[in-house]
Amino acid sequence: MTTSASAALFERASVVTPGGVNSPVRAFRSVGGTPRFMSSGSGARIVDADGNSYVDLVGSWGPMILGHGHPDVIAAVHEAADRGLSFGTPGAGEVALAEEIVARIDPVEQLRLVSSGTEATMSAIRLARGFTGRDKIVKFAGCYHGHVDALLASAGSGVATFALPDSAGVTAATTAEVIVLPYNDIAAVRSAFAENPGRIAAIITEAAAANMGVVPPLPGFNRALAEIAHSGGALLITDEVMTGFRASRTGMFGLDGAVEGWQPDLMTFGKVIGGGLPVGAFGGRADVMALLAPDGPVYQAGTLSGNPVATAAGLATLRGCTETVYARLDETARTVSDLASAALSRAGVPHRVQRAGTLFSIFFTEVEVTDYDLARTQDTAAFAAFFHAMLDAGVYLPPSAYEAWFVSAAHDVAALEVIEAALPAAARAAAAAAG
Ligand SMILES: *Cc1c(COP(=O)(O)O)cnc(C)c1O
Repeated sequence: MTTSASAALFERASVVTPGGVNSPVRAFRSVGGTPRFMSSGSGARIVDADGNSYVDLVGSWGPMILGHGHPDVIAAVHEAADRGLSFGTPGAGEVALAEEIVARIDPVEQLRLVSSGTEATMSAIRLARGFTGRDKIVKFAGCYHGHVDALLASAGSGVATFALPDSAGVTAATTAEVIVLPYNDIAAVRSAFAENPGRIAAIITEAAAANMGVVPPLPGFNRALAEIAHSGGALLITDEVMTGFRASRTGMFGLDGAVEGWQPDLMTFGKVIGGGLPVGAFGGRADVMALLAPDGPVYQAGTLSGNPVATAAGLATLRGCTETVYARLDETARTVSDLASAALSRAGVPHRVQRAGTLFSIFFTEVEVTDYDLARTQDTAAFAAFFHAMLDAGVYLPPSAYEAWFVSAAHDVAALEVIEAALPAAARAAAAAAG
């Protein structure tokens, strides 16, 4: 496999862009090697600058749920672009996208569109603070909510530890208002509320943690969060930027709250709802959303919010995400994870498959992973060897052991055969590298 064109681009990129990338995980630092620069994609495949083709298991980190270049999505984008790229006024497309989300997700009575998942969570915590008149936020170690200053705090996973900043440039004053707790630890949440009466504005949690690998909530965990938040006068924000319209047709909520009979107060979305263009959203209870400007005192805005081209891509993607598509995603996720697990077992590599609906990841560890500390028991050297062997055989996995694997509705028999053929050698490479 020739990679000289990617290498040349990476060299140019490194001159004008820090680390040569516009988002850190793309730089391959945790697996080593030179990132591949992609130039096109179609269905389940992406093609790099050297013309190498890969079966894609990243899917732009989720949005490409229908596969790359889906004809309906591309047609919707063309049609919208022909009418103009942006007006800075309201338009019909954003109304239709909001209606689609409100119709599908019960707890969302109203929502506002933004341009990224980060903006969605940032706005949701501002709104929760404005609504409750309180300052503190509870988050869980290993849960990612975008690069919002306050939510970058994930260090100090001890019970009720006041977080230290995880990133330089985030002030201690910012993270002092954030209480970081171990995921799936209800007792820790109860203690935090007992120790901070009347001071916690909200609990924010990924509806199923999927940014430390996939770590589903233990049965009843999210319901208990709702109960504790509500009895303590706080809001529950479930972040479905990754799981929304991915874990199931109604996201993780459809598999959890909708079944158990509890509701979050606010939810955040991104990824799938933009179909590959920049769209995020936050929404929930109408009485809470009513506090947003121009109706209320909580300011929130965006020059490109509700952009007509982006909302057209999102709406076409959501409309394409039928029950048939989710059934197919479920089956494909099962097939890929079963194939990978079988190959790893044959090679004697300790691993665990974990799922949340159609979302899954494979931990290179023996233990069941229920929180961030356990996620970090992984053998990342074994994963790096596995990753590179898969890449060389034409399968593009997430370049980190801590990321979910994303299948699409376009993953067909031919794509699965490429994955199946690549697995045995990759599993042996992982076994050889295992520490
Ligand atoms: C990706 C992600 C975000 C951030 O979204 P961006 O669009 O990258 O800003 C927030 N929360 C979760 C759960 C995510 O997976």
